[in-house]
Amino acid sequence: MTSGGKILTTILDARGCERSHPLFGLNFEQLMEALGALELPGWRIRQVEHALYREWVGDLSEVTTLPVALRDRLAGEGFWVGLPEIVESFESVDGTERYLIAGLDGQTVETVWMPGGDGGETGDGSEEDAAQRATICVSSQIGCAVNCQFCLTAQLGIVRNLTAGEIAGQVVAVLKRQQVKIGRDRINLVFMGMGEPFLNYDAFMDAVRLLVEEVGIPASRMTVSTSGIVPGILRFAEETVRPKLAISLNAPDDAIRAEVMPINRKWDIAAVLNAVRKVPLRPKERVTFEYVLLGGVNDRQEDAEKVVKLLRRANLPLKVNLIVWNPGPGTAYRMPEAGDVAAFQEYLVEKGIPAYIRRPRGRDIYAACGQLKRTVREAAG
Ligand code: SAH
Ligand code: SF4
Repeated sequence: MTSGGKILTTILDARGCERSHPLFGLNFEQLMEALGALELPGWRIRQVEHALYREWVGDLSEVTTLPVALRDRLAGEGFWVGLPEIVESFESVDGTERYLIAGLDGQTVETVWMPGGDGGETGDGSEEDAAQRATICVSSQIGCAVNCQFCLTAQLGIVRNLTAGEIAGQVVAVLKRQQVKIGRDRINLVFMGMGEPFLNYDAFMDAVRLLVEEVGIPASRMTVSTSGIVPGILRFAEETVRPKLAISLNAPDDAIRAEVMPINRKWDIAAVLNAVRKVPLRPKERVTFEYVLLGGVNDRQEDAEKVVKLLRRANLPLKVNLIVWNPGPGTAYRMPEAGDVAAFQEYLVEKGIPAYIRRPRGRDIYAACGQLKRTVREAAG
């Protein structure tokens, strides 16, 4: 693993072999290196790679392309698949599912599956072959250090970074659970779960490359959201393979932003916008600005006017996603009135700024934006 920290475990497998070297998370070159002592030919490594990222095996015993003796030898030397496992799931009335997925040390992270479209829409009885559409919301850290005042994840503080294998592994664990077929199904990924991806930059980008190159999900179907970590945005600007970018703006000016997102005192709106302008956009690509509407705080007509001025000056291809604040315990805000939400959107659109209201998904199972936090609480309590 190149980044994100190595987490050693002393879990034993069914044969009593110590599991100290997870393979999931390593790309081809890293697998070559990790398995170097076994002096395997390249095509054997390719078989391991295929089993991990295309077949999504959960255990070495399932890698049937390898001779049994080799599988045993790998296990004997402490290698194991290390694909994160779903340990608990919650299903919403709207079809959203929230999973607790165990990382390498057994701590759980949260991942959300949001189905969209209709799997059986062909209506000709061939539902089994019908393509699925869905979005998976992926976590990048356990907890978060950023301390946004309206976000429940913030209340955990930062527990730890996830490794590249744990980030990509959430996606594969969910793809496996949902029996997704890569190439047939249209899966979008949003790195908008727990944590600030740009404060775990290397592991996050390693995970993106694994998902693109090994699992086969196009980077154009991925979006990463950041609270405005300028050094991260500047590194992101240099990447050739990268998701689309979303910025959590959440306020019409620096004064309000610093109140709701104290990180604004380190990198203010102008600094964030300057960094965003350095990201070379693909044709037709737009930067998303997320704006969580907090009742009475940033949802007024004067706020909408300021947002329009601010975003016009930004002079970027962009769109705005308005998110109605999802309430949670321990936060001092209130939800915006439905009329104010509609008026805010209408004003932006009238002024030529594309603005969409993101409907909350899975609020009843605490799966909606900013509600991911229960994991560690429960584990600790
Ligand atoms: N840390 C990153 C990504 C995770 S948060 C970031 O902040 O951008 C993903 C989005 O959820 C952000 O736009 C954030 O502002 C929003 N959010 C956080 N708490 C929320 C809540 N309680 N209700 C609605 N949106 C929330
Ligand atoms: Fe962290 Fe994002 Fe929540 Fe802010 S909104 S505390 S950056 S997860």
